[in-house]
Amino acid sequence: MITFDDLNISPNILKAIGNLGFEHPMPVQQQVIPRILEQTDDIIVMAQTGTGKTAAFGIPIIQQIQTRINAPQALILSPTRELCIQITADLQSFAVHERGINILAVYGGASYENQLRELKKGVHIIVATPGRLTDLIERKAVPMTNIATVVLDEADEMLNMGFQESIASILEKVPAEHRTLLFSATMPKEVATIARKYMVSPDEIVVGTKNSASANVSHVVYPVNGRDKFKALKRIIDSVPQIYGIIFCRTRRDTQEIASMLVTNGYNADALHGDLSQAQRDAVMNKFRVQNISLLVATDVAARGIDVDNLTHVIHYDLPDDIEAYTHRSGRTGRANKKGISVSLVSSREKNQLSQIERILKISFKTEKIPTGKEISKAQMMHWVGRLDTVAVSHHMLRKMVPGVYDMLEQFDKEELIRRLAGLEFEKLLAEYGNAEDIESPDLEIKIKKASKRQSFEDRSDSGENFTRLFINLGKMDGLFPRELMGLINKSVRGERVTFGKIDLMREFSFFEIESQQVGSLMKNMKNVNFGNRRVEISLAKKDQGDAGRSNGKMHNNGFRKPSRVSA
Ligand code: AMP
Repeated sequence: MITFDDLNISPNILKAIGNLGFEHPMPVQQQVIPRILEQTDDIIVMAQTGTGKTAAFGIPIIQQIQTRINAPQALILSPTRELCIQITADLQSFAVHERGINILAVYGGASYENQLRELKKGVHIIVATPGRLTDLIERKAVPMTNIATVVLDEADEMLNMGFQESIASILEKVPAEHRTLLFSATMPKEVATIARKYMVSPDEIVVGTKNSASANVSHVVYPVNGRDKFKALKRIIDSVPQIYGIIFCRTRRDTQEIASMLVTNGYNADALHGDLSQAQRDAVMNKFRVQNISLLVATDVAARGIDVDNLTHVIHYDLPDDIEAYTHRSGRTGRANKKGISVSLVSSREKNQLSQIERILKISFKTEKIPTGKEISKAQMMHWVGRLDTVAVSHHMLRKMVPGVYDMLEQFDKEELIRRLAGLEFEKLLAEYGNAEDIESPDLEIKIKKASKRQSFEDRSDSGENFTRLFINLGKMDGLFPRELMGLINKSVRGERVTFGKIDLMREFSFFEIESQQVGSLMKNMKNVNFGNRRVEISLAKKDQGDAGRSNGKMHNNGFRKPSRVSA
């Protein structure tokens, strides 16, 4: 097996690596470290966070710094302030036994003053967000003549965040005699363009599979009806007593809402999204890092650059619209050779996204059923018994601090004591799951197949060929009647003429028909719409939904049985 000793690393850095407890180089380090040390060409490395890429470029960069030159020799560009700080800390830890290497993090949102002062004193390596570095270069605060290496770390994320121009302007100002090392988890065309324009015949090193998620992550899908998602989330969390993970939502509002609902339900959770100030975000991240909170509910944007090891789970409360975001999200777990689980709660509305992720990222999902109350109780109790088994108790201290406790407990025999302790521990769990019904898992597979057939059941409608039957998660108990339904739709699609067909109102949900050609734009406009305090969910009606309603006579005939054209 290859060791760090085989990679031409200097003794001082080897000592530092030893102190960090790194035993063997990770695959990206095996490939990249000797390559940077022995050759001078440009390289593209397809690797995602968690693979050990920071050490892969950080170790050889440290080794190549010439401390007698008091000027920047390496620029490392990274997408976020958090990542800058993390990379700087990693580099400093590799350089602890080297004398006089100065590494500076510069990023937006912090005062210029300190950064300018440090730059003036002289630094060898700058780790920067592109925007701030461009500003500092424009202020002539960064001597560029000795820059020999530029690293573009998480290039895809930087371009995603709109740093294209800043990166281009930086690359145009470094001396011609430099090398560029580009690290990216995925290779969208924007990254390929930068590589083509600013790199000289770069070789590509792929760690794992290109555009795919980490091999250490297993991917699980829980098919669930949209209205059951929160209940399902709670069950999944409850079934893993030591969960430590990130829950991804699509919008800031959902993020805040889910986090608040989790806290109300007694979970250790908090939200991370763009409406928070930098100080608030830092506070949340610090709590999460030290595991003061075990669940972070985040948007994709806010979670960029989160570098926390040992996450057990990433949960996609909603699948991302952007396929590649799935790779980034999932890559937050399964880091540093640890195993991780990426869990997706998928409603039938998201089945197309799921099949795209499956196809494009070549991920094979394992479909599981939402844990039952019995399974959750078993998982929690086994965990509790495990804790009882390993807990360290100081009898002496207990007797000293609370002298009467043994006498008081003596009145219970062993079995009674176990029963009562378990009762105390699981009171809430049993109340919640003792008589709870299982959560229904809709069959996404069948729907995927059927949806792909032309003239599927979803196209059929009572109102004729041109009408499509839709399901809405609101019913009469929510105060939804034909007028309210039409009002809701018309308000949301603004300006378009919606032609309604038949409307069937049920107690908890309803069906309605509109002209097929209007379905696409309606679905788009109805994202993130509320009715009262409920989020509106509209999807194509399933055949069995409609048929069941008709056959058991529960379907309410509201006077719109004959197609009735109502103009918006
Ligand atoms: P990165 O992909 O650079 O964010 O690294 C992910 C994590 O792996 C970091 O916490 C590193 O400290 C850790 N790490 C990097 N290289 C090794 C190694 N050779 N052995 C063990 N852990 C490592």
